[in-house]
Amino acid sequence: MPTSVVPTLNSSLQYLKGVGPERHKLLKKIGLETIGDALNYFPRRYEDRRLVREVSEADAGDRECVRGTVMSRSVARMKDGRSLVRAVVSDGKEVLFVSWFNQPYLLKMLEPKTPVILCGRLERQGGRKVMVHPEHEFLKTEEPPIHSGRIVPVYPLTEDVSQKGLRQLLYRLSRQAAGLAVDALPRPLRSREGLEPLSRALAQIHFPDDDEALERARNRLAFDEFFSMQLALQLRRRRLRKQDERVVHSGGRQAVERFLETLEFELTDGQRAAVERILADMAADRPMGRLVQGDVGSGKTVVAAAAIVFTAANGFQGALMAPTEVLAQQHYHGLVRLLEPLGVRCVYLTQGLSAEERARRKAELADGTAQVAVGTHALIQSDVRFSRLGLAVIDEQHKFGVLQREALLQRGGFQPHFLLLTATPIPRTLAMTLYGDLDVSVIREMPEGRKPVKTFWVGSSKRADVYSLLESELAAGRQGYVICPLIEEGSGPSALRAAGRVSAELSELLGHRRVGLLHGRMSAPEKKKVMEDFRERKLDVLVSTVVIEVGVNVPNATMMIVENAERFGLAQLHQLRGRVGRGSQEATCVLFSDSESPETAERLGALEETSDGFEVARRDLALRGAGELAGRRQHGMPELKLGDYVRDAALLERARALAEALLEEDPELARAEHRLLRRAIAERYGWKNPARSAALG
Ligand code: ADP
Ligand code: MG
Repeated sequence: MPTSVVPTLNSSLQYLKGVGPERHKLLKKIGLETIGDALNYFPRRYEDRRLVREVSEADAGDRECVRGTVMSRSVARMKDGRSLVRAVVSDGKEVLFVSWFNQPYLLKMLEPKTPVILCGRLERQGGRKVMVHPEHEFLKTEEPPIHSGRIVPVYPLTEDVSQKGLRQLLYRLSRQAAGLAVDALPRPLRSREGLEPLSRALAQIHFPDDDEALERARNRLAFDEFFSMQLALQLRRRRLRKQDERVVHSGGRQAVERFLETLEFELTDGQRAAVERILADMAADRPMGRLVQGDVGSGKTVVAAAAIVFTAANGFQGALMAPTEVLAQQHYHGLVRLLEPLGVRCVYLTQGLSAEERARRKAELADGTAQVAVGTHALIQSDVRFSRLGLAVIDEQHKFGVLQREALLQRGGFQPHFLLLTATPIPRTLAMTLYGDLDVSVIREMPEGRKPVKTFWVGSSKRADVYSLLESELAAGRQGYVICPLIEEGSGPSALRAAGRVSAELSELLGHRRVGLLHGRMSAPEKKKVMEDFRERKLDVLVSTVVIEVGVNVPNATMMIVENAERFGLAQLHQLRGRVGRGSQEATCVLFSDSESPETAERLGALEETSDGFEVARRDLALRGAGELAGRRQHGMPELKLGDYVRDAALLERARALAEALLEEDPELARAEHRLLRRAIAERYGWKNPARSAALG
């Protein structure tokens, strides 16, 4: 960009005065290429340096800013080779002694009579005021200071880019923000909501006048994040809602009833209600989007199976995707057992198949010979095609990102019905944001006859007792799990119990019992073999790392032992505990931990006290803080720079309502006054046409 052209947010930083190719390269490393990138690179925190005192008025303190004039300076070389620059600074009444290590270039700049502000730790040594290695800023008569005399931004930085350099750059840019920023929010909406203009918000987020201005800026920018996300989500939801005769499931109820009769149990009320809602949704002329939320062991799988039977009975295909190989395999076996007697053919798709086998199974799906596909991420590879996909199910959906969910929906020529299963309960506001485009069914009760898993937190001194309890369960024909934080010794702190060692120990101790080992470094076929052996009771005890965390179902297992329980999160422990107590027998969970930390006590104590997944989630939230729970990875939700899903819940709710109202008026954001908004969404989410783009869940 030649300098004569007016810069825009898309202009490269390289051509700005004082940047140049070298600095630009460094800035690129932290993701800053354009002016817009830089303006949207928000401070991590702020330092209040508004109060600047004259040397004679300053007193000792950790974060003092002192103003004075350079009187004299000198440089010395220390024994270790470092340079030491010293200066005496005065306000005419008193002097301050300042020194810097290893910054020889300062010497030239510390010209006597130069006015300077120094920020840092001020100490009194004897009668002297002393500052070692403060931040300095030379004052120019024509400009206000940038690094002091104000609330100063502190940016998240890697070492190559200097804090002061970036601050200076952003100071200049933020002064020009008014001319640069194009506010996409329609003005009437903005003023009705009392939101700051974008240019002011961008200027104030970097160099706030005061705390209130900062809060207003943050509020405006966080609103933008929520609002564009809500618009994108709702645009998609509206598209889903569009009528499409192709998905109508007009018959097939009897097939579902017959299927339910083949089960050896009655559905719980919650399961029943979920099935009813699903069948009604699927009979309508628009694609279903439904989330079934139920605690571990509440029986979500059979609900999904009923939906699959329904789609097959209507001449469609179903796909079920699970986050791990072990879980996908288990679902496959379960569905084969339940569905093949009804004449519904299932295939399993996984990474590890031979090319031929994979081609054969894909062909069955493409020509409709197979009605059901079960698998992991292998299901969403671009070469997988269905002849007539009617229903896509994702189990433990929080393990997948929005994009992966969406990819599964695109395996057929049209939008299929969509069912998500999850055991991770989340706060209402979050659910609304994430699944704003989904209806929710909650299964509240457990199947009849389930007893809460007895849970004990014990120290390793109780190991012998625990093992004898395990042995008595095994003697009664039951099975057990032992979960370890590591695979092998040496791959972490030495006090941790490693799966390899534990399985050897147990084999020895329980000589006549069969002990299996399962961990993440095993190949898929090896894992499969071990899981099958455990399921078929060829193994009595399964020692494992957390590869079995989600969804594994072996009802005959009644004992769960977790080694180094302090290493696991509350929700994760609840999931692990959910692997037992899945049949009618009483089950026990033992949490080994010698940790004395209060947080551990709180977590493990909570598990002893409650078996209710919703309560566990509530405590988890309280213990870990919303930020982490709301983390993108946990729920596959868009990352926010400023907004906080939980702290800003009210703002989020407002943004959601406003997005809805706006789309009610202008469903495609086609009006001139919404053009910028539409573009902002496309840019933020990376899609050209959000209304037609499917890539946002
Ligand atoms: P999750 O909701 O954790 O996925 P599953 O679907 O794996 O739970 O079900 C857990 C176990 O409960 C399975 O063995 C399943 O066969 C059994 N089950 C499901 N529904 C019922 C029911 N209504 N009555 C008795 N057992 C049930
Ligand atoms: Mg499950």
